[in-house]
Amino acid sequence: MSTARPDLSIDRLIGELQALAKISEAEPPVVTRIVFSEADMRARAYVRELCEDAGLIISNDAAGNTFARWVGSEPDLAPIGTGSHIDAIPNAGLYDGCVGVLGGLEAIRVLQQLGFKPRRSIELVIFTAEEPTRFGIGCLGSRMMANVLTPPQARALRDNEGRSLEELRAKAGFTGALESVAVAPGRFHKFLELHIEQGPYLEEEGLDVGLVTHIAAPASQRIVIEGEGGHAGGKLMPGRKDALAAAAELILALEAAAKSTRAIDTVGTVGICEVFPGAVNSIPSRVSITTDVRDIDRARRDGVLEALRRASNEVAERRGVKIATELINADPPTTCDPEILAMLENSARAAGKKFKRMVARAYHDSSFVSCFAPTAMLFIPCRGGVSHRPDEYSSPEWIGSGVHVLSRTLAALAS
Ligand SMILES: [Zn+2]
Repeated sequence: MSTARPDLSIDRLIGELQALAKISEAEPPVVTRIVFSEADMRARAYVRELCEDAGLIISNDAAGNTFARWVGSEPDLAPIGTGSHIDAIPNAGLYDGCVGVLGGLEAIRVLQQLGFKPRRSIELVIFTAEEPTRFGIGCLGSRMMANVLTPPQARALRDNEGRSLEELRAKAGFTGALESVAVAPGRFHKFLELHIEQGPYLEEEGLDVGLVTHIAAPASQRIVIEGEGGHAGGKLMPGRKDALAAAAELILALEAAAKSTRAIDTVGTVGICEVFPGAVNSIPSRVSITTDVRDIDRARRDGVLEALRRASNEVAERRGVKIATELINADPPTTCDPEILAMLENSARAAGKKFKRMVARAYHDSSFVSCFAPTAMLFIPCRGGVSHRPDEYSSPEWIGSGVHVLSRTLAALAS
């Protein structure tokens, strides 16, 4: 069984991951890197320099997405894309996103050292702001490339201090019209993102890599129920318009609708419930809940939302309360490209890696890339499934496995 390739320099890659982690707004080992912060800009410069050292041609778009291209022998063909993000939520670790960027670079360097000559160019992408920390919306760069976030919507974005995306990207040196960010189908021939699993299953099952077949996507809503308040003793039960009792019916209706699909991948959650006025002796007059429905199948997910809407109408009518529903977001679930998956499987076999096909439960830049290119993801284990924490950890062996399978697959795709 061939395990590691002698030319895969895992020490170099781990060293670079650790060096990148030190470029942080927080004391190491804590990684905090908010988009367009001073730390983000230094991290971008560090990665850019590594890419230049590898002979890659760098360009940026107006949103600050960065492209580092290894030019193929037929440079007019659509390139093979790989990459991820290097921004990090407050109090994060050093593997989320960065493994896909620096691991993608390492995969390219491995192929260079092997003397491989790509026919199609291979392009490493560093997406702007996968994390929603600054602007409240995740996958900003890839979302704009997919035109799921339109230029007018992007121009309206503000951070907590009221600073606009326009102002911050200009300050970071990314100019040009936002209209130029969206790309047409065919921008990449294929796209493949390496990422840590952010769940415990690969480690628990003793596997080296996971081949992602679907990426689930959330739809979230805010539902406000207006009833009628009053004294909890003074007002008798007949004729009450208790907003919380109505909300309770909606919460159970959501649970029932999510279960009714009989699909393991449909999940529905109410994670926030705010009760007004919130006193022990007062009938709730107003309740706000948020719903989060996820699935790998858009029609099935939207069916749950529709069932919830019907339940809302029925409850509002029967209880005499007002129910207003606001859609916060509804992102597209992804079905990964069967051709890339077949190549990943061949690569994993050839590399002697243990693998399984699996669903990604959190969304990624790949969710949006899949709107304009055939896409797949490659997962590696992370200890205990821990992510978005300073103790996030993926072993050099796991990372090496991921890069090994990635490099073989990129070579097959670019040939
Ligand atoms: Zn990530």
